[in-house]
Amino acid sequence: MKKISILGSTGSIGTQTLDVVAMHPEAFEVDGLAAGSNTALLLEQVGRFHPRRVSVATAKLADELRPLLPPGVELYHGDEGLVEIAAGGEAHTVVTAVVGSVGLRSTLAAIEAGRHIGLANKETLVTAGHLVTASAARKGVRLLPVDSEHSAIFQCLNGENQADIHSITVTASGGSFRDYTRDQLQGVTVEDALRHPNWSMGAKITIDSATMVNKGLEVIEAHWLFGLPYEQINVLLHPESIIHSYVEFRDSSVVAQLGTPDMRVPIQYALTYPDRWSSPAKRLSLAEIGKLTFREMDMVRYPLLKLAIECGKLGGTATTAFNAANEIAVARFLRGEIPFLHIESIIEECLQRHVNTAAPDLQQIEDCDRSTRERAARI
Ligand code: NDP
Ligand code: MG
Repeated sequence: MKKISILGSTGSIGTQTLDVVAMHPEAFEVDGLAAGSNTALLLEQVGRFHPRRVSVATAKLADELRPLLPPGVELYHGDEGLVEIAAGGEAHTVVTAVVGSVGLRSTLAAIEAGRHIGLANKETLVTAGHLVTASAARKGVRLLPVDSEHSAIFQCLNGENQADIHSITVTASGGSFRDYTRDQLQGVTVEDALRHPNWSMGAKITIDSATMVNKGLEVIEAHWLFGLPYEQINVLLHPESIIHSYVEFRDSSVVAQLGTPDMRVPIQYALTYPDRWSSPAKRLSLAEIGKLTFREMDMVRYPLLKLAIECGKLGGTATTAFNAANEIAVARFLRGEIPFLHIESIIEECLQRHVNTAAPDLQQIEDCDRSTRERAARI
């Protein structure tokens, strides 16, 4: 039995991770589950998967939940609760499926405790990639990508030498506004933005897909996961989301990973690596699809992708600031406080005012994260 814990069990990735667990009850055991505020769903998960330890976002939610939990289940709350689920207990692998840089401390704690990481929470790598990867290397812990593009590249690199890589290409569906001009973006609503053509995901990442910030975060994520300079990382628009990403080697050979879009496939591979198990994902029929299309990524249409990559190249706290500004701007857009294109102007202004710190430690990262959030909330 492989014991796993999930940070963010009630979200899109969290629930799909539990779907994978449910498909292989003989192989997985759930050790701990951390949720935010959806206690009803967490209770249902407790009844079904019998974790020994759970956590919720606040003390108040924990008080409400306590009398409803079966005897013997340990209950935690807040950021310490997240750390407790990540690093306490007996999990072999911790799936990091909370959204945002709130996942940083718990991810680092899980690594320090020697847990392998099924990494969905890309914001952790964007905000503090050098700390997370150094700590994983020191502890001999695997960072197994859950993000579909990174899982694809990871699979393409199986058994290959790093020195033979010419470049990697991260594919992008284009999100909900793929075919809109910048003019048409003026009046778009939250509901329009949440309608992703290919994937059903949490609200924040769906907005990130529409602004192309998600692809920017993924380029930075790829830089840290695969140890490649930004010059070797490309982005290509591929509306069908069938080729999840690919690697070109020095001999011009290109290896790609394909499949119908279904997050349970990369989630499961992160949990079973290096083995492959059966999955209910729809089989790919290229004959049925007929053709796949591709377009050059337009950096004028998507200025935030360009800015994210510039921040990545700059390093230091630039990506921390980019991520923090984006988290606040997206939250404000989702609350209906700002129009869609203001996400851009808020991030741009935060970056213009940002004073970069090279090789920041955890405290400097958290300070930058906090001050950028405050600034982004005021603009
Ligand atoms: P969701 O918004 O669907 O889920 C977020 C989860 O985090 C929920 O369980 C939520 O709890 C929990 N949470 C939020 N705040 C806190 C907190 N303070 N303490 C504890 N838990 C908290 O997000 P997604 O599943 O879409 O995304 C998760 C991560 O995976 C993101 O980093 C995203 O970029 C990445 N990812 C997602 C993909 C997808 O298909 N969804 C694809 C690739 C990457 P609750 O709901 O109970 O409040
Ligand atoms: Mg992705």
